[in-house]
Amino acid sequence: MNIATQAAQIGLEWDTRTGAVTVPIYQTATFRHPGLGQSTGYDYSRSANPTRQALEDGMARLDGGVRGFAYSTGMAAITSLLFLFKSGDHLVVTEDLYGGTYRLFEQCLSRYGLTFTYVDSSDIEEVRKAIRPETRALFVESLTNPLLKVADIAALSALSKERGLLHIVDNTFLTPYLLRPLDLGADITLYSGTKYLSGHNDTLSGLVVVKEPALADKVYFHQNSIGAVLGPQDSWLTIRGIKTLSVRLDRQQENAQKIARWLTNHPLVKKVYYPGLEDHPGHELLKRQARGFGAMIAFEVTDPALVEPLLLKSSLISFAESLGGVESLITFPAVQTHADIEPEKRQRLGITDSLLRLSVGIENVDDLIADLAQAFSQEN
Ligand SMILES: *Cc1c(COP(=O)(O)O)cnc(C)c1O
Repeated sequence: MNIATQAAQIGLEWDTRTGAVTVPIYQTATFRHPGLGQSTGYDYSRSANPTRQALEDGMARLDGGVRGFAYSTGMAAITSLLFLFKSGDHLVVTEDLYGGTYRLFEQCLSRYGLTFTYVDSSDIEEVRKAIRPETRALFVESLTNPLLKVADIAALSALSKERGLLHIVDNTFLTPYLLRPLDLGADITLYSGTKYLSGHNDTLSGLVVVKEPALADKVYFHQNSIGAVLGPQDSWLTIRGIKTLSVRLDRQQENAQKIARWLTNHPLVKKVYYPGLEDHPGHELLKRQARGFGAMIAFEVTDPALVEPLLLKSSLISFAESLGGVESLITFPAVQTHADIEPEKRQRLGITDSLLRLSVGIENVDDLIADLAQAFSQEN
């Protein structure tokens, strides 16, 4: 069945008792036992909650895994997953990583004896060279943040299998609608559900999908032990978001393609990073492995002095963190999302003082372009 159909109907058959078309919000902490040693399958909502489970089961189907897991945020999902490892283990990680993940790894988990090597995960040889005897996993972003580099998921999965590593993919920027890493050999996918899956800038959530049952059991053990689960209300909001994922992303990508081309021709723009442009280094690869190019754009302006006026004079496009929602947002990665990366490293990665990031929403594209045009023109 097509993924757009699956997404639209997520949770539809959940409530067989009443036939409710949408999943009820089971706002309960605990469940009555039918008898001694008996359970309805639900005992306590940290362990399992029906609304959360409808989301988890739906995500597992959308992403082609055996089991899904929902957490309070994307960071909670990543933290829970990292409990699969122990002191002394080493992970090879995408270098232009989401800033919050980098902070978690370097400032929190490194204190517990985990070590990380950061590489350009679009370069398979660089990944291969970073693998050590104590390496246990490859942790990659399918489309990186903010420079939108593309990782070859099938090649990285083959390398992981050859070296006995877990292959974990943060697929937040593409979602299962555009890319299904588990089909290409990855072991675990993860999402900040806060972004495209919820899609309305109104909910925080994190999602994980696991390919194999034995690994899923371990992930469940940690989800339940750590307890950073998604509440029933936010599970419901995330389900509601997923129902419109395909139409939102179709429109967002169409808008992004037009805006990227417009930016390319603007005299005050030095460089545009959008994988939908033919000259983007990941264009061909993404065309092969995914169903689209996503709706995130990064661009460098000719002068750092343009940044502040652009952020403040865009009016339809809000100056705000986050991404993936129906409303377009603009951010300045060097001082916002990526502030926890050392300045020299940021420069080397290309996260410069003149780089801006756009999350393209579902508004009318001509309105968005007019907004950018006026924000630029007031500077001329
Ligand atoms: C936002 C984001 C996260 C963290 O998710 P939260 O829901 O904000 O905790 C992780 N990875 C990527 C790629 C993100 O964009």
